[in-house]
Amino acid sequence: MKENNIVFAANTSAGLPRARAHYLNQAIQLEEITPVNIINIAIMFSGGLLVALVLWAHFTQIKEVATTRGEIIPADLIHNVQHLEGGIISEILVRNGDFVNKGQSLLRFAQPATMSDLEQMSVRYASLLLQQERLYALIENRKPEFGETGKSYPKLAKQQLTIYQAQLNSQKHKVLVIDQQIEQKKSEKQRSLNQSSIMKEEVKLLKEQVDIRKELNKTGVVARDELLTTQIQLSENLREYRQFQDNFTVAKTTLAEARQRRKDAEFQFIKDIQLEAGKIISEIAEVEQTLIRLNDRATRLNVVAPVSGIALVGLKEENLQDIYQDLGMDPGRATELRLHYVQACPGTEVCKFGVRDSLGFGTRIENLLAGTELPAKLKIGVSGCQFCCAENFVRDIGVLGKKNGWTVSFGGHSGNRARVGDILATNLSDDEAILLINKCVEFYNANARKKERASRFIVRIGLEEFKKSVL
Ligand code: SF4
Repeated sequence: MKENNIVFAANTSAGLPRARAHYLNQAIQLEEITPVNIINIAIMFSGGLLVALVLWAHFTQIKEVATTRGEIIPADLIHNVQHLEGGIISEILVRNGDFVNKGQSLLRFAQPATMSDLEQMSVRYASLLLQQERLYALIENRKPEFGETGKSYPKLAKQQLTIYQAQLNSQKHKVLVIDQQIEQKKSEKQRSLNQSSIMKEEVKLLKEQVDIRKELNKTGVVARDELLTTQIQLSENLREYRQFQDNFTVAKTTLAEARQRRKDAEFQFIKDIQLEAGKIISEIAEVEQTLIRLNDRATRLNVVAPVSGIALVGLKEENLQDIYQDLGMDPGRATELRLHYVQACPGTEVCKFGVRDSLGFGTRIENLLAGTELPAKLKIGVSGCQFCCAENFVRDIGVLGKKNGWTVSFGGHSGNRARVGDILATNLSDDEAILLINKCVEFYNANARKKERASRFIVRIGLEEFKKSVL
């Protein structure tokens, strides 16, 4: 037991010395003897190899190729790529049959009036900002700081600085004239006060003199005519004294008036500036909105692919029928008396101004009415917000998206005898709007004359009569 204890104690760190192992039985010897180096190396190598294999298996990507037969099913057969406003194409970036990726540029429009409008509007905006700064500087009685806008438009900034100086000088001149009047009135007032004080003293002395002479006249020391002369003198001085007092009152009043005029001039100046600034602020807000729209339009000069697919560019009209047939699609076009098109703006799908999904709703209307025979051709416009890009108010049926729902109009026309459609109902849900459109079409179908467009029809029938039947 003692021996064993020694053996195990020694073995805990570096193994058992050979001399001592000699006394152990074979099984314990095998267990306790330190393995030779080569075995150690082999074990370590195997362990390392195992770890390396695990790491390799974790990080390595294995490419597999599987060959099989299949069919490509496109998300949709045809995506018409159409610019919202149209324009002159300056560059077509894909060729017929090219595979295009979603978001890839397909064509570019020539920079039309939009760009010059945008430039003009940017200059107008800068000018308004500079005017605003000039006015604020006048109100706050400081020098204008035109900042970055001034650096970008130095001529405009210089003009505004000149106007600022002119306005300031004119105001200063006005106030200066009034200040001079105030000074003049002040000295008049002071002069009247001084004269009045002197005269008051004289009157006091003359009164005393009259009193003395009255007493002396009673005793006969002073003649009566001397007394009368003094009394006359007193009376004249009293009149002059009152005159000076009147002058003093007038000078005091006119001084107060001049001071008030100065205050009024300052007040009126600030009021005029504030009025002008108010107008400029509302103009700035309008121009900002226009700029957003123009910028938005300018960015749309680059037409991109809405989905990945095959580009069909420059199709010839005579081939369209065959292409539709190959694709198993209904062309849905009409020179006939039926729905010609539903024109829908991008709405919430693409446009940042959109408040309703005009594209989706337009598709729903198209599905509802496509192929329906009608008394005349029918055009429908669906706009996703009140900018009315889909010209809804000049379409036979117009649908306008607002936050609270759809507004449906009927009887618009953009032709030679243009007409704005009459609003039938507002704040409709999708289903309510569809129901109303359906009723309008049914009533129109049943009562209109052949080739009578919605605009002429509603004039003949009368709006109230029409509303009674569809609402
Ligand atoms: S109508 Fe409104 S939502 Fe539609 S494209 Fe014009 S701005 Fe965008």
